[in-house]
Amino acid sequence: MVKEELLSRLAIVTGGNRGLGFETCRQLAMRDVQVILTCRSAEKGEEATQRLKDAGHAATFHPLDISDPTSIQTLFEYVEAKFGWLNILVNNAGIFLDPRHEGDNHEMIGSPHETVATTFTTNTLGAYQMSQLAIPLMRRAGYGRIVNVSSGMGQLSEMGKGFAAYRISKTALNAVTKIFAEESQGTNVLVNSVCPGWVRTDMGGPGAQRTVEEGAETIVWAATLPDKGPNGGFYRDKKQIPW
Ligand code: NAP
Repeated sequence: MVKEELLSRLAIVTGGNRGLGFETCRQLAMRDVQVILTCRSAEKGEEATQRLKDAGHAATFHPLDISDPTSIQTLFEYVEAKFGWLNILVNNAGIFLDPRHEGDNHEMIGSPHETVATTFTTNTLGAYQMSQLAIPLMRRAGYGRIVNVSSGMGQLSEMGKGFAAYRISKTALNAVTKIFAEESQGTNVLVNSVCPGWVRTDMGGPGAQRTVEEGAETIVWAATLPDKGPNGGFYRDKKQIPW
């Protein structure tokens, strides 16, 4: 049984029920971080949290739909009331709705408006609002780390055709990283984007190169950076990559 009051850091992970989100929760918990695992389904969230508890880790479930501003607000009211501070936020939850072969369909220019709007709401605006509400709690704690789980598909320097909704949402997420990093200068809140690589999850598919353990490694590294660590960068395999 882990004594929660002895655990030094408190983290929120979005999309914690499966894939990179669950593995990030697991790796943070292994570093004695107290994890608030969040996801849309209470049943899946409770089940995932129980798996962490069964392994002896301190974990709590709280429901969260990052496409719903009220749901985000409710989560932070809970964190404020129960803890009053926060150290780590991993904006991991994400969707990939573009058809896989869209870039080769010459009849179609870009993704449909609705796909872009829905993807942006989840992948970008969700992380934006989460960060806005997290930063004051992190400043209060004197230690904050925000990791925006982005993608090489959002790199302007590597931008290719197709998958417009997903690409735009991740490029914009990188802008969120940069803006909040600049606004956090000198506060010991470090905000960075991470590309996990191509990972074998429901989103990445079975043909992807990396395991979830490998994919989560740089996310957890950025979530546990020491004081005076990097701020406002984009990282893969713990190395900076171009925007
Ligand atoms: P995944 O297995 O498809 O998991 C996605 C997670 O996001 C699920 O927990 C899902 O919850 C959650 N989610 C989606 N919409 C949500 C919402 N509105 N509110 C709350 N949670 C929501 O994907 P993954 O591969 O682990 O991806 C995690 C992150 O890594 C994403 O941001 C993705 O863009 C990024 N990424 C992945 C890869 C890769 O190769 N896998 C590469 C680069 C970047 P439900 O179970 O409720 O759907």
